[in-house]
Amino acid sequence: MVNDIFAFNIGTFNCLAIRDGDDWDRNVLLIKTGAQQILVDTGVGRDLYSPPAVLLDRLLAAGTPPTAIDIVILSHADFDHIGGTMDEHGNPAFQNARYMLPREEWAFWSRKPERLPPSTAYDEEFRKIARDMPQTRLLQLSDKLELIETEAEIAPGIRVIAAPGHTPGYSIISVESDGKKLVCIGDLIYDPNDIKNPDWYSAFDFDPEEVVITRNKVFEQAASEGALLMTSHLPFPGLGYISRLERGWRWQIFETKG
Ligand SMILES: [Zn+2]
Repeated sequence: MVNDIFAFNIGTFNCLAIRDGDDWDRNVLLIKTGAQQILVDTGVGRDLYSPPAVLLDRLLAAGTPPTAIDIVILSHADFDHIGGTMDEHGNPAFQNARYMLPREEWAFWSRKPERLPPSTAYDEEFRKIARDMPQTRLLQLSDKLELIETEAEIAPGIRVIAAPGHTPGYSIISVESDGKKLVCIGDLIYDPNDIKNPDWYSAFDFDPEEVVITRNKVFEQAASEGALLMTSHLPFPGLGYISRLERGWRWQIFETKG
C-alpha cells in the first residue's frame, strides 16, 4: 500500500482515500460507483495555501485524471475542503464536474461571517485564510455551484445529510451499496481521545453546542448500523468505527493491512 492512497470497497463501489498533503492530514474521498466518479471535498488547493496541495497529482497517480471526475460534493466551504476546487490558474480543477454545496452552507458564507474568533489555538494568518479563502472560492465557483438540500440523493446510494455545528451548513455524506455503508463524517472529530468526553468540541467549531448534539446523533446511528466512518483529519486514511462507551465514544481504527 502506498501510504497516501488507500483503496477499499463499499459494496460494489470502489473507494479511494487520498491524502491531500504531507504537512497535516486532509483525507479526501473518491467514490467510483461504476457509472460515475464522485469526489468528496478537495483539500486546500495549489494557490492560496502553503505548502500547495498534492491531491491532483495523487489522483492522477491513482489513475484518475481531474477530467474524469463527474461530481464534486463539498461537505462545507472551509478552506481545507473547498480550496482544491480551483487550479493555480483560477480555473475549475475538475473541468467536467458538477460542483455541489449544501444550500445552508452557501447561506452561511453569504453573510460574510468571521469564521473563527481570535484564539491562542491558531494564529492571525490562519484566521485570515479561514475567513477569506472560502469567500474567494465561492465567488470563483458561483456560476457552477449547484446548491443541494439535505437528504438529497446525489447519485444512487449517495446522500448528503445536514450535520450542522462545525459550520451551519456542514453536511455528512452517506454512501450505501449492496448492504454496506460508509459515512464520510469529515470534521466531526479531530482526535479519538477527545470523543471519550461526549461534550467535547474543537476550536474550529462554529457552534459548539450544536456540534455536540449533531455528533452524538450521528455516532448513535453509525454505531447502531455498524457503518464505516471516514474522517478528514484523523491520521490517513482516517477510517474507523465508532462504538459506545458508558460515557462517550470509542474510535476503532479500520484495519488497513491485508
Ligand atoms: Zn477540515
